[in-house]
Amino acid sequence: MSGLGKLKEEHLALSSGIGLAGFAISNFYESIEMAFAEFEDEIIDSIVKPNKTSAIHWYLSHFQDISRQIHDLRDVEDRLEYCLDFIVRILKEANLDPKLPVPDFDNCTEDWHEECECKEMFDKWERYVNHNAGEIDDLIIHSAFQVIFLDRKFLHDFHLALSEFIKYNMSDIQKKYPDCVTSKGRINRFYFPKWLTNAVFYRDKGTCTICRCDLSNLIRSQNTVHIDHIVPLDVFGSNDASNFQLLCEACNTSKGARATTTSSINVPFWNH
Ligand SMILES: [Zn+2]
Ligand SMILES: [Zn+2]
Repeated sequence: MSGLGKLKEEHLALSSGIGLAGFAISNFYESIEMAFAEFEDEIIDSIVKPNKTSAIHWYLSHFQDISRQIHDLRDVEDRLEYCLDFIVRILKEANLDPKLPVPDFDNCTEDWHEECECKEMFDKWERYVNHNAGEIDDLIIHSAFQVIFLDRKFLHDFHLALSEFIKYNMSDIQKKYPDCVTSKGRINRFYFPKWLTNAVFYRDKGTCTICRCDLSNLIRSQNTVHIDHIVPLDVFGSNDASNFQLLCEACNTSKGARATTTSSINVPFWNH
């Protein structure tokens, strides 16, 4: 594992994350403008220079709200048992243990559990989730990002939409971050932090994303491995952490300053 450097393992909620990523991708075209409007300031803060909380994280936040999800589930689902199963599953995934007793639904005489002991116990579980909702939502968003970051084709479409937002909001960006905007009214180039070049290198499996040539033996020489803006700064692209891909020198040169070329070709876990 020496290649992964100082990356620490951590607990992820992949099942919930994959669900959120899929939902966010399939609702992209009808939701993107609303999501940008909801998090205008936050997105501007995260894209002028590479930030670990990327614009994609804010886009995912638009959909993720565990408290609302449970509240809605209770409205449509009259079986408290089902809602509790959902809560238990989410808490396990989030590695949280409320240390609360589980309601004994089977031995309750009330069919709808409206004024019984199970109802009281259930409310405690729900309150526990609401109390930890920020932490749970952040973990699910972080987990969804691990999946969505693999999909360069989606990142390409996302950053094309983001470039419209940047063009439209350029005067606000300039006002807030005068040092980060060029005289032509584009976001300035910024150096790539190590956590970012590592992430892009490992995601793209050390190969050029356009011609697929192997760059893995060149990891130490920054001159021959190029970190490329998928949507270039020249056409209102940004330094958002999800707007990068690995290119070889030849492809980087021929892509030029205005093309948004990427490819959906990936290296699978095994070939079939
Ligand atoms: Zn009951
Ligand atoms: Zn290449």
